[in-house]
Amino acid sequence: MALAMTVTRFAPSPTGLLHLGHAYSAAISHRLARDAGGKFLVRIDDLDPGRCRPEFVDAILDDLDWLGLAPDAAPLVQSQRTGLYQAALDRLKAAGLVYPCFCTRADIAQALSAPHGGATGTYPGTCRGLPDDPDRRASTPHSWRLDAAKAIDGAGLPGWKEVDGAKFSTRRDQIDDAILARKDAPASYHLSCVVDDADSGVTRVVRGVDLRSSTPIQRLLQALLGLPEPVYLHHPLVLHDDGRRLAKRDRAPTLAAMRDAGVDGGALADTLAQGRLPLGFRFGDA
Ligand code: GLU
Repeated sequence: MALAMTVTRFAPSPTGLLHLGHAYSAAISHRLARDAGGKFLVRIDDLDPGRCRPEFVDAILDDLDWLGLAPDAAPLVQSQRTGLYQAALDRLKAAGLVYPCFCTRADIAQALSAPHGGATGTYPGTCRGLPDDPDRRASTPHSWRLDAAKAIDGAGLPGWKEVDGAKFSTRRDQIDDAILARKDAPASYHLSCVVDDADSGVTRVVRGVDLRSSTPIQRLLQALLGLPEPVYLHHPLVLHDDGRRLAKRDRAPTLAAMRDAGVDGGALADTLAQGRLPLGFRFGDA
């Protein structure tokens, strides 16, 4: 059997300027691909119309260029690929694995963005098991939720492997009736992520450990849709020395600011790819 080529990706959301933590993620993803003679891809996760801005897409591409982390193919832009997500959702609908949910926007607002550090939601199941009502669906904004119990009945609880060989199993309480699509957005983070990772042949999913809680539901969706299983690298987060996370509200140094200050982007990416951080920062999992 021919071994699949190693394909990694960096998938930022254009909701702000990138910081050192993003650069670390991109640098190790790039290095993993390079060391294996594989490919490094970039994907722009811009499905959340409330939070994403086109100017940040340009800024992300400029930052990657400055770091010398050019992707091996044109970046994928999720907002241009909605037909693919719709097709995946239709397959889950046809299999009776999703149901419409009429709960309010506030209840479901988070589903479009990756839940960094967040646990799965605790949806009380309000709309699960309602009789199908096409008139209500036609007249009322709704989202689509995975029927987790049915899905797990069919596909079990798939675990996953990490690049270092560690194996993780999935517990039932890590999977909720996740939102997979909303009226104003054709796919949630989870659905679009698994569809795109498979469609672009990603074999190694590199992302922060704060997204590890997303992996159980994503593995389940992969099993339901018959998509290949990637290997994961959930890397530590870059923190300020005092333990604060690099968040916009914490005035994280943006890559743009470092570039303006004359930092050499290529040298920085090299340092990060070796697992070393500039002074003032440390790794953590907070
Ligand atoms: N777009 C997501 C984010 O910025 C990351 C997606 C992923 O790596 O799976 O947090």
